[in-house]
Amino acid sequence: MNDMNQLDDHWHEECGIAGIYGDEKAAEKIYLGLYALQHRGQESAGIASTDGCDIALHKGLGLVWAVFSDPAAMPKLTGHAAIGHNRYSTRGTTNIINAQPIVIECKSGRIAVAHNGTITNASQIRKGMQDSGSIFQTTSDSEIVLHLIARSSQTDIVDAIADALKKLVGAYCFVFLTPDKLIAARDPYGFRPLSLGMIDKVYMVASETCAFDIVGAEYIRSLEPGEIVVIDNAGIRCSHLPEAPRRSYCIFEHIYFARPDSLIFGEKVDKIRRNLGKRLAIEAPADADIVIAVPDSGNTAALGYARVSRLRYEIGLIRNHYVGRTFIAPHQDKRNLDVKVKLNPVSGVLKDRRVVLVDDSIVRGTTMRQIVRMLRDKGAREIHVRISSPPIMNPCYYGIDISRHSELIANEKTIEQIRCYLEADSLAYLSIPGMLSTVEQSSNYCTACFDGSYPTPIPDGFDKFCF
Ligand code: SF4
Repeated sequence: MNDMNQLDDHWHEECGIAGIYGDEKAAEKIYLGLYALQHRGQESAGIASTDGCDIALHKGLGLVWAVFSDPAAMPKLTGHAAIGHNRYSTRGTTNIINAQPIVIECKSGRIAVAHNGTITNASQIRKGMQDSGSIFQTTSDSEIVLHLIARSSQTDIVDAIADALKKLVGAYCFVFLTPDKLIAARDPYGFRPLSLGMIDKVYMVASETCAFDIVGAEYIRSLEPGEIVVIDNAGIRCSHLPEAPRRSYCIFEHIYFARPDSLIFGEKVDKIRRNLGKRLAIEAPADADIVIAVPDSGNTAALGYARVSRLRYEIGLIRNHYVGRTFIAPHQDKRNLDVKVKLNPVSGVLKDRRVVLVDDSIVRGTTMRQIVRMLRDKGAREIHVRISSPPIMNPCYYGIDISRHSELIANEKTIEQIRCYLEADSLAYLSIPGMLSTVEQSSNYCTACFDGSYPTPIPDGFDKFCF
């Protein structure tokens, strides 16, 4: 079997979440929002909505359109408030049990939750709870917060949520739905993005602002790290969890994960991604004829590189957008097929040209090596690989598909050894200072996957499948 996950040489997005309160078509808006956030997770999708009395839920495995193609799905999601979730399984295995939102009944009543991120002390909390008799439905870390809420001595649901969140370490953005409230929260380090928007006096929250654009909502602001926002019939009110020692926004959201048309952490992704390419051109110029991108991940940085280097930007690789994440090869001989099914070089653009090939990052290097070979086969005279982020030396424990050190080519090889492996004429990465120069307030960003400086303690033996 040939799985597209194996050929996609990128870290994967974590999850996308959205919530809305006070709109009679709440679930429809969340459905559209999830469509816009599809890039953040393709393994499952779900929406929970409330009419003020009960909470209805529909979720399933697959893309948003597939999960909600069931004609019975949307009609049952009635009410004025809803939350939604697109999942990529950073923790827990992929099955319907781990799809979100998760809905439970506790002493505070019915509550639904959708989570983006990874709770790094989840194993310890879970073990303690299991030892004292708790039974878990899922193998996902997101369920832990519901148990903490259910066990809280606080009787008010917002206080119980705050009480639960104080016990968590790691990366999280949550949206909670009760019959009369939407509650959104961002962890005190601020690893993952979560923004507040408004449409016709109705508040909405979402991982990225592309979810606002699709329903015509206006961006108001980013939730602050550690902020809890409660939206109900009384309006909106905000409180804060205890401050973290520092802020740690994920720089990789700007490099790759977020959509270029989104605004996250208060900054435009497109602008920062172009600036990464511009800076790369200053740090690592190449004597070449054209600049091409590995689509779609390298497109925006390649535009920036071309602009500063005054080289022509060309479309030298065509991406097949209809290839899903679960491509199955028709036969066992999958050599060279996996990348070809997704990308095809344009020979007229490449023949006899000295090419700068821009991508956002290299994880294992397997895909880039095949791309370089394909370009060479189509007549490219020289291939200069330029990467708009520094070498990835360390795994991420904050909501990104975990790679072990051994899966990261930059952890195993020098840059010259990687160049040889890729069979490129030259290879250069952006420097860490260069990367940080593209964002405002660079000290607010996490760079652990590049420099190993993890903002929180990471438990020994931490693993995606530890449950
Ligand atoms: Fe983002 Fe890297 Fe930090 Fe993970 S380790 S949160 S991918 S910057």
